[in-house]
Amino acid sequence: MKVLGIETSCDETGVAVYDTARPGADGLRAHAVYSQIALHAQYGGVVPELASRDHVRKLLPLIRQTLAEAGLVTADLDGVAYTAGPGLVGALLVGAGVARALAWALELPAVAVHHMEGHLLAPLLEDPELAPPFVALLVSGGHTQLVAVEALGRYRLLGETLDDAAGEAFDKTAKLMGLPYPGGPQLAKLAQDGRPGAYRFARPMTDRPGLDFSFSGLKTQVLLAWQGSDRTEQTKADIARGFEDAVVETLAIKCGRALDAADCDTLVVAGGVGANRRLRARLEEMASARGGRVRFPRPALCTDNGAMIAFAGALRLQAGQRESAAVHVAPRWDMAGLPPLDAAVQA
Ligand code: ATP
Ligand code: MG
Ligand code: FE
Repeated sequence: MKVLGIETSCDETGVAVYDTARPGADGLRAHAVYSQIALHAQYGGVVPELASRDHVRKLLPLIRQTLAEAGLVTADLDGVAYTAGPGLVGALLVGAGVARALAWALELPAVAVHHMEGHLLAPLLEDPELAPPFVALLVSGGHTQLVAVEALGRYRLLGETLDDAAGEAFDKTAKLMGLPYPGGPQLAKLAQDGRPGAYRFARPMTDRPGLDFSFSGLKTQVLLAWQGSDRTEQTKADIARGFEDAVVETLAIKCGRALDAADCDTLVVAGGVGANRRLRARLEEMASARGGRVRFPRPALCTDNGAMIAFAGALRLQAGQRESAAVHVAPRWDMAGLPPLDAAVQA
């Protein structure tokens, strides 16, 4: 089954074709991402209306490009998957509208994909051996969640952030230190030149039991440190390193606890912050110290992309899920309410 995947939930237009006849990463026939970063940079954040309009401009050319790269034509497709939420409503409607129209014109089944399930399943795209049960750490721009995955499609929330998401904390902290938008990756780059331990920030909510997170206080700590410092390049890098270490250590501590709570030895990490090198190294260390394992997608599949949507959509289409012809999106959408994938397969 060849599935076209369309992602437009925020500021990346992502398109891919996933072919279930080829196992694992070989199934990814082609994928392309157009990032709107340059468009939003001058405003210091995503402007929703501009995002919608740019998806309108880029989506069809990107679909044509992706099909050409895959050596396919629309008649080769067996289904269309699109992100229906969570995300910016206008941006979501562009992808959903195009996907539904294409599916209708080509007489193909279409399926709505939950953006976070897309992120969560991305590591499975590359590693077909990977199967539940496992614990997933979803760390992106809008979410920080620990999820017990008992079976595909069956997600139990173990803990989540009470305020800022980890990626959001990276972006906001970068901004207050004057780094250009989008700050997360820039801050991580700067931290490479920072000296470990030169600045030490709190590991929020690790001093008490529980699996929830809170990252909003960290940026205030960084702001105070930054304002009271000499503001040299070295200091800036040291503060960035201190911030990154605090986030990474906090995530590692809670991941260890979540594995204990779920009585599980496999951790799967997904979402944009999963591209962070120090986080990857620290979680590898944590998992191997306890005799377990951790799996990440390649960095390009950590941030938003169409491949994860094509892949998740292919699993749901194979399980018999279909959407009606109505164009429906869900800017807020709880992953726990998704239909289980295994039950659908059996049905
Ligand atoms: P959500 O998936 O919750 O809707 P989103 O789609 O905006 O949010 P992603 O595209 O998954 O989020 O990830 C983007 C986030 O990842 C940004 O906050 C960005 O700063 C962060 N990020 C990307 N690369 C890195 C990195 N190397 N280190 C730290 N953070 C990073
Ligand atoms: Mg983005
Ligand atoms: Fe995302």
